[in-house]
Amino acid sequence: MKTMKITKREAEYLLILFRENAYSNKYISSIVMAKKLNIAPSTVVEKFQRLAEKGYVNYVKRKGVKLTDKGLKFAKKLIRKHRILEVLVVQISGVDANTACNMVKGLEIELNDDLTELLCKSLGRPRRCPHGYEIPEV
Ligand SMILES: [Zn+2]
Repeated sequence: MKTMKITKREAEYLLILFRENAYSNKYISSIVMAKKLNIAPSTVVEKFQRLAEKGYVNYVKRKGVKLTDKGLKFAKKLIRKHRILEVLVVQISGVDANTACNMVKGLEIELNDDLTELLCKSLGRPRRCPHGYEIPEV
């Protein structure tokens, strides 16, 4: 059986799709995604297909992808982790929001749920990230 575990790179895609509101009726094309990531559209198509196989996105040829319910839930979780980590970094170091954002990029997928909740609690259950965006409850 093929592993359904998600890779760091795939998680990055899900985060972008979430930030672009690519769910319900909005699709993101491979061209747009390729521009965002500064890579070839063919590479993006491969990744879209992998994510579709794993059930995280709906992929429609020539239209692109949007998050499935499973993908949306997972992306929200990643966003929650990303924003909680940003709050942590800003609180302990005083760096600005963008610096914190870059520092925590890629860590979302590594952070388990228990540690996330522990951090959230010890940070006083922040509602917003340092950019002012809402931290979603999952
Ligand atoms: Zn950020």
